[in-house]
Amino acid sequence: MESRKSEVKSEDLKLGRHTTKGEDVKRLPILIAFVGFVSGFALAQTPASQNQVTVLKPARVFDGARMQEGWAVVVRGSRIEAAGPAATVAAAAGAMVVDLPGATIMPGMIEMHSHVLRHAYNEAPWNDQVLKEAEALRVARAVNHLKATLDSGFTTIRDLGTEGAGYADVGLKQAVAQGIIPGPRMIVTGRAIVATGTYAPKGFSPAWAVPQGAEEADGDSLVRVVRDQAGKGADWIKVYGDYRAGPNGETVPTFSLEEMQLIVKTASSLNRPVVVHASTPEGMRRAALAGARTIEHGDGGDANVFKLLASQGVAFCPTLAAGDATSQYAGWKKGADPEPARIRQKRETFKLALAAGVTMCAGSDVGVFPHGDSARELELMVAYGMTPLAALASVTSVNASLLGLDKQIGRVASGLAADLIAVDGNPAADISATRKVTLVMKNGTVVRK
Ligand SMILES: [Zn+2]
Repeated sequence: MESRKSEVKSEDLKLGRHTTKGEDVKRLPILIAFVGFVSGFALAQTPASQNQVTVLKPARVFDGARMQEGWAVVVRGSRIEAAGPAATVAAAAGAMVVDLPGATIMPGMIEMHSHVLRHAYNEAPWNDQVLKEAEALRVARAVNHLKATLDSGFTTIRDLGTEGAGYADVGLKQAVAQGIIPGPRMIVTGRAIVATGTYAPKGFSPAWAVPQGAEEADGDSLVRVVRDQAGKGADWIKVYGDYRAGPNGETVPTFSLEEMQLIVKTASSLNRPVVVHASTPEGMRRAALAGARTIEHGDGGDANVFKLLASQGVAFCPTLAAGDATSQYAGWKKGADPEPARIRQKRETFKLALAAGVTMCAGSDVGVFPHGDSARELELMVAYGMTPLAALASVTSVNASLLGLDKQIGRVASGLAADLIAVDGNPAADISATRKVTLVMKNGTVVRK
């Protein structure tokens, strides 16, 4: 459980800084309303806080599936008490009413593929981050990354591997949960698992045992490593199902189907779902047949393998923003130059996945590009052929279901945790509205504005 007390403290700091920076004058009335709002929570840190009632009155509410015009949302303590047409949602006496004209209230967004212990690749290449940056340096950056993520409206993340920073994600998760630092709730994977000799950093003299960005394991040792990672705090088991390990650096499947099955069997009996990085049809096929819950990237996916994902109920997390970012870091002038082959392929595979009816997970691989910019994935999902409403569902209710947290987060409905954000405008009309976050509430506590 997270401590409300420290989040209110950090919010007080935020508000202080907010004032000195001087914001947009148009927002001032809302800001004033929230000063009252936040101090309401600050006063209510005694058990009575469970009775603090706030009524949010935006122009519309995205409930996790549909856009509802004219709805209001009642928050009591840390939970959503009611959501429905404003006229039918009764406000208790003494409730604080917050008008949000023109805004949309939606569930706190969920980033399904982050790496908070990495920073943008145009700042430092992956190899240097893994080999040269001290763990404390990486953790210090991660603290800022978590705050930027929360401020951008993402109240939950699934972090998919520390890439050489051990189990620092487990400690960061505890720091957020204990209210020591602000951040989204975290689902973590620790070191992640790769097949021996297949991962990176690569290209050194064979005389040296070069530390790798994930833990090597094969065959029967997979059982021990899955259990060890779970024991050290991994909520999910992250596996690299293929990688650039071919004789010419081409991407090839790494684990056999039998190894993948052993991983999933061992993880399942510990109640840990398995997430597989895979870009080749064969790597994806093995992951899907073995029972992975989500497959990441899928750049080379074909119609057959997406059909298999759909029939096996395996979700696909396309990480469109990662390719969009690295292509631009490599010199592509987006909007001026023609699209590179990699981007064209990404559009094609995304369409194939949509056509096959695969469950689409929203996860960007943020860390390749700056933290706090995860809305980029939603913009690309829409640019590559998804409806804005489907992208909004993906980043809220669909992701929550994939995490097994659909009874707690991902929808605006009575009884769920009050993880709510307000965005300016209507994101179902223009998905970029998900960048215009004006309020972030986590567990009923305002953590931004
Ligand atoms: Zn990743």
